[in-house]
Amino acid sequence: MPFDYAPAPESRSVVDIKASYGLFIGGEFTDATDGTPFKTISPSSEEVLAEVSEAGPSDVDRAVKAARQAFTGVWSRLGPAERGKYLYRIARIVQERARELAVLESLDNGKPIRESRDVDVPTAAAHFFYYAGWADKLDYAGLGSAPRPLGVAGQIIPWNFPLLMLAWKIAPALATGNTVVLKPAETTPLTALLFAEICQQADLPPGVVNIITGAGDTGQALVEHPDVDKIAFTGSTEVGKAIARTIAGTRKKVTLELGGKAANIVFDDAPIDQAVEGIVNGIFFNQGHVCCAGSRLLVQESVYDEVLDSLRRRLRTLRLGDPLDKNTDIGAINSAAQLARIRELSDIGEAEGAQRWSPPCELPEHGFWFPPTLFTGVSQSSRIAQEEIFGPVLSVLTFRTPDEAVAKANNTPYGLSAGVWTEKGSLILWMASRLRAGVVWANTFNRFDPTSPFGGYKESGFGREGGRQGLAGYVKDRRDV
Ligand code: NDP
Repeated sequence: MPFDYAPAPESRSVVDIKASYGLFIGGEFTDATDGTPFKTISPSSEEVLAEVSEAGPSDVDRAVKAARQAFTGVWSRLGPAERGKYLYRIARIVQERARELAVLESLDNGKPIRESRDVDVPTAAAHFFYYAGWADKLDYAGLGSAPRPLGVAGQIIPWNFPLLMLAWKIAPALATGNTVVLKPAETTPLTALLFAEICQQADLPPGVVNIITGAGDTGQALVEHPDVDKIAFTGSTEVGKAIARTIAGTRKKVTLELGGKAANIVFDDAPIDQAVEGIVNGIFFNQGHVCCAGSRLLVQESVYDEVLDSLRRRLRTLRLGDPLDKNTDIGAINSAAQLARIRELSDIGEAEGAQRWSPPCELPEHGFWFPPTLFTGVSQSSRIAQEEIFGPVLSVLTFRTPDEAVAKANNTPYGLSAGVWTEKGSLILWMASRLRAGVVWANTFNRFDPTSPFGGYKESGFGREGGRQGLAGYVKDRRDV
């Protein structure tokens, strides 16, 4: 049984949530001209947090025009070191307002404050610091001499890491001299709107960053806008494919960060306690709402019982509940729709013959919740082994030899990430060279660093974000005019 902990709630008084928000266009908050406002709620309580504007096609057009004007008039003419100064300033303000951002993220998204405070916000600041450093060193990035910006980047992000995905998108775009129009997800717009205030506080020239809120239609209008030079998208493979179809035959560039079904592979010589922590972090971090989540556990048969016993013991100690409580390990599922999808796929898993297990766990009365769940006896063809569940659900499979582990790990339409747990360095290298995954973690999982490129193979998308490689998606090819 878990220890009893006294509640340790983070105060929400640090955040000033407005009753309603407009669109951030040309450095100002303005009313939408043709959309219907919608409400954003806290998924842990279903409390309405704020009303948010929906950007219709004419608002998208205004935002793109503001970005174009800022690009030609100011940003592309500014010296690279000057651009870097703005990015450093933004990074420092994100750090200064870290507590506010973390509380707001946990309220709007449902993720535990421990994660928003210790991972999302510091890593977002780190991205701005990192790309600030590149702004005046682009000649040395391996992109040719004097790489040129593309122009206006349309950026569409999902709800699982709202502020962090914003940083992944905006920091490299600005460092390379582009201006942006960013659309956050419908269910998690608030930290992007607070970021708009941070841009004002940093005196960023108007129009360099524009934030437009709305749902899929707003994203689609941005993708279709003729004056956008690049689309950067993170989200589902289905929408990514639709975007690729829309863009095909146009001059727009595109990068797609899509879904995943990562294998977390545990060999019999792995330090089991450490591996169990990595398995838990791999799939239960952020309620499993992680594109690179280790949602398929592959355990070598000889240590199957030992790993499963330890894993079940560890899961009994996870605390699920109020995202603002500093003791919470597992927060709320982001939306009713996502909860329905997790429930549906889990029921399918059971119907297909897998055995389902969750620790005893009381779910709060209000809000959207799903207990940490294990499926054993999963076959490779089972839908819970093939489809992205995007929730706290782990499918467990076994293997006997390294060859079998590679074959099973690669047996997925995706190719975003993988984890290998073994004491042998040579085995790690052997595995890493055979796994069709953009990122392979060795004896760890879900580690993110701005200096390290991230991206997928196959249906996980293309293009890289992070690192020097993340700059390439925002500059012209040498042969572009
Ligand atoms: P989506 O791909 O629909 O959403 C990602 C972003 O794209 C959101 O901002 C969304 O807007 C926007 N969008 C939706 N439709 C369009 C469109 N036609 N053109 C342009 N932009 C669009 O993901 P969902 O939120 O619907 O999640 C569905 C599933 O996708 C999840 O269950 C999960 O499996 C997967 N997913 C994967 C993610 C990843 O990081 N790989 C992230 C999120 C989801 P809005 O949300 O406002 O409608």
